[in-house]
Amino acid sequence: MWNKRPSLSIKIWVTIIAAIILSVLFAYSLSQYYYKNLYVKKIKTDLVNEASLLGVDYSGGEITEDFVEKVEWFNSKNDSEVFVVSNPRELSACLPFEIDYDTLISEEERQLLLAGQAVEKEGYEKRFDKNIVAAIIPLNDGDRLEGIIYTYIPVDSITDLLREFAAKWLGAAFLFLIVVIFFMTKWLKKLVKPIKEMEHAANRVSDGDYNIKLQVKSQDEIGSLAQAFNEMAQSIYLEEERKKEFLENVAHELRTPLSYVLGYTQAIKDGIVKDEEEKQKYLQLISRETQRLQKLLRDLMNLAKLDSEQSGLHSTPIAFAQFIEEVLVKYEPIMKERQIRLEVELDPDPIIMGDEGRVEQVLHNILDNAITYTETGGTIYLTLTQQKEECELIIGDTGRGIPALDLPHVMERFYRVNKARSRFDGGSGLGLSIVKKLVEQQKGKITIESEEQIGTKVSIVLPTIVDEWN
Ligand code: ATP
Ligand code: MG
Repeated sequence: MWNKRPSLSIKIWVTIIAAIILSVLFAYSLSQYYYKNLYVKKIKTDLVNEASLLGVDYSGGEITEDFVEKVEWFNSKNDSEVFVVSNPRELSACLPFEIDYDTLISEEERQLLLAGQAVEKEGYEKRFDKNIVAAIIPLNDGDRLEGIIYTYIPVDSITDLLREFAAKWLGAAFLFLIVVIFFMTKWLKKLVKPIKEMEHAANRVSDGDYNIKLQVKSQDEIGSLAQAFNEMAQSIYLEEERKKEFLENVAHELRTPLSYVLGYTQAIKDGIVKDEEEKQKYLQLISRETQRLQKLLRDLMNLAKLDSEQSGLHSTPIAFAQFIEEVLVKYEPIMKERQIRLEVELDPDPIIMGDEGRVEQVLHNILDNAITYTETGGTIYLTLTQQKEECELIIGDTGRGIPALDLPHVMERFYRVNKARSRFDGGSGLGLSIVKKLVEQQKGKITIESEEQIGTKVSIVLPTIVDEWN
């Protein structure tokens, strides 16, 4: 438990123990305060009552020996000290020691007594050299103060009681603390356990073991943390798997063209190919494979860039129809060569906001597919239409089409319908995945419809700039 830094459970421990000690102390002092106040108050009332009861027996005139004796008798039977002081000038007569009436009560108190009121006192009394609580009752005959009944209790007896009370109190508090510590240890262990498990799991994840499933035992924050942790581990795991698959795909894509290049070069080098014409054919094949590698590399770089950069888009308004026409010009020779007919119907209105380079790449990748997967004599058609705040570009062909089973996957990386196709047919299956990324980056949508032997229709919907003048 005591390692380099204080653990969470120790922090909770310290907090709770401190809170308990503080509240015990607070409750203790509060109870002391009230106990003292209420108790002292009660003593005072008792004293006043006691004295008043005795005072009832006084019926005016001079204070008689009889009355004094009665009070003395009462004094001997009682916890508190009671005595009578008769006529102001004869004080010493009733007391075992010299007493000065004037110092026993102040002038102020004397006035109160004269008015028939009881006087309560608390504090050090020089006369008795003690801390006392006292009550004084006047014995008035008309407007003359004939004497007083003075009753008091030394405070020592009160503090003794308080001390006893405190001892019991603290004893109980100590017991309480032990019980709390006992249960808290159990509870803390339970509380900290899932956190420890998570720490352990996190260490495993950083060591590369993602196959982790923490049990979510509680519905509280710790429970949802465990849940979040599981999800995180799962998504790291999936990401890792995707990376692995990606690398495998890349390696696989590189292997074939490289082995072709190696094979052809070896053949020429070893002098197996003698015929000059055949040599030229081999060199051409080498050049084609190298170009394929170059394209693959370019596509991979593109994908990496698309994955990492969100910004870096240089959007400008593009007159879409004109832009498409310009791209199509580059395809004229190959279309002529493949005897593919081109039908174009472009609405000149749509203006899109886009990065020219990226929009061009979208067109290239789709047109490349259309040409590659369409037989000689086929048709490729392009239509562009404006719809409210969007435009739709359709690039269709009358090619071989995509089987329904493959259609949902063609936009995945490295996915191609003909897995074992010849080297003369298409590329590595990255084209459409790049297109999808690019279109989404331009806040557009792409859908592909296709039917085998009939053709394929790629639709791209892009937001357009609203023309203020129309
Ligand atoms: P790359 O474009 O990277 O050179 P690719 O053309 O094989 O390679 P994608 O453009 O992503 O990759 O296309 C994926 C697959 O979808 C293709 O291999 C092809 O089987 C199918 N496909 C795409 N476009 C068409 C189309 N117009 N007609 C028929 N099949 C198509
Ligand atoms: Mg392609």
